[in-house]
Amino acid sequence: MKKTNLLVALSIGILLTLSCSDENSNTNPNDNEISDDDGNQSVNPLFVNSIVSTNIDFIRDDDSDAFMNIQFIGQEDKEMPDSRTDELFDTGTYIFEVNFSNGEQIEIWAHSSFDSEVVAQEYANKLTGRLGKLPDFMRNELSHVVLHNGDAGAFAESESNFFVIYSINIDLRISNNDLEETVFHESVHATLDADYLLNSEWLQAQQTDDTFITEYARDNSDKEDLAESALFAYTMIKNPGRLPSNVETWITTNIPNRFAFFQTIFN
Ligand SMILES: [Zn+2]
Repeated sequence: MKKTNLLVALSIGILLTLSCSDENSNTNPNDNEISDDDGNQSVNPLFVNSIVSTNIDFIRDDDSDAFMNIQFIGQEDKEMPDSRTDELFDTGTYIFEVNFSNGEQIEIWAHSSFDSEVVAQEYANKLTGRLGKLPDFMRNELSHVVLHNGDAGAFAESESNFFVIYSINIDLRISNNDLEETVFHESVHATLDADYLLNSEWLQAQQTDDTFITEYARDNSDKEDLAESALFAYTMIKNPGRLPSNVETWITTNIPNRFAFFQTIFN
């Protein structure tokens, strides 16, 4: 083989090796250990984040849900927090009442800028089955959902037990099959953060485990670790075997204390 050809072959070999190990580094627990300065083994997070960076369908379209019906009950003036503006109050918000089979109701407040009850309901309808897939005890804690017209990332108000979601982001998340998981993640913030972010058993579990499930959880450990870890643990507890087996093994190996913590919540 000529020298240049050999170099090309070697380069290709190195590139292939790098891209393979790169692909596998998120899923192979054995490739995931690094040593810190003291020589202690620590483990990298398994994913970048729980929803967008994984192809895992944690909560499926055909999972059963408790949604029964939705009705428009009129227009009212509401507080509609919006990350795009400081304007808090909306006049003529479209109010929908959603009923669930366990007897609970949640209101969806759709901003007046939808300009029509029909369009507002079209977006409210995209949330109803997803809200119905939440664990009953979480849905029961949810006070309402703020639905905005336009695009921004969803967020939650943990003290007041609601979350805020945007119509364009709803459509994007549906097209990526991520809306169930987004509703779950924000509902954890809205219904569990206030009770558990500073809970001593949760903090103990965080400290005892070696690592974090995602980089997003690690980088925002005081606010996001609970919601990020909850989605994995909930799926594993509710539907064992639904997560890839290497992910389940990684969880019981690397974050067993958090998993045990969530077993007390989701079981
Ligand atoms: Zn979050």
